[in-house]
Amino acid sequence: MTITTPPTSETATSTRLDSRSGSTVPGSSIARSSSTTSDIDDAVTNAVASVNDPEYPDVSIVDLGLLVDVRVLADIPGSLHGVTAEVDLVPTFTGCPALSMIAEDVVTAVESLEAIDRCVTTWRRDVVWDTDRMTQSATERLAREYTVTLRRKDGTLRCPSCGSDEVADQSMAGPSRCRSVAWCPSCRNAVEVMRG
Ligand SMILES: [Zn+2]
Repeated sequence: MTITTPPTSETATSTRLDSRSGSTVPGSSIARSSSTTSDIDDAVTNAVASVNDPEYPDVSIVDLGLLVDVRVLADIPGSLHGVTAEVDLVPTFTGCPALSMIAEDVVTAVESLEAIDRCVTTWRRDVVWDTDRMTQSATERLAREYTVTLRRKDGTLRCPSCGSDEVADQSMAGPSRCRSVAWCPSCRNAVEVMRG
């Protein structure tokens, strides 16, 4: 179910992913050439969805809300590039050292597609990642398997272990630059907070 929309501006706001249908939703796909089909867009999106975040090895970067847009550009006569897929991504945390690894994995996955000759990734600076971009299943998996919680818009934290709202920030020095550590006085567990 690809919705093809006419190209608008590059600053169009983020693509919201449908949290109910997991990682197979392509969001908005903008085909610049009449010779491309939504099938190719879907294949590219699915290839991107096969890439997991190095921080959370079984959580797709699409479920984490990193995918902003996919564009498939037809082969331009005289070009050496062939069919090019442009993949726009947004980082969860701009200083995250895993970004280059994620981008490499995306290129590898997309270029493995028969229909794609080349993949170019862009980290978008005009799109802001927030926790609303994550699917419900990814949020639950982070809480269950990694004891990682997300900061709500009002700044509060919910304990992924016991559900308490009393979680207090403890240290900005987390186990990685993408996470910080908080403490839940109710269940006396450390809670990792994903940085947005
Ligand atoms: Zn707790």
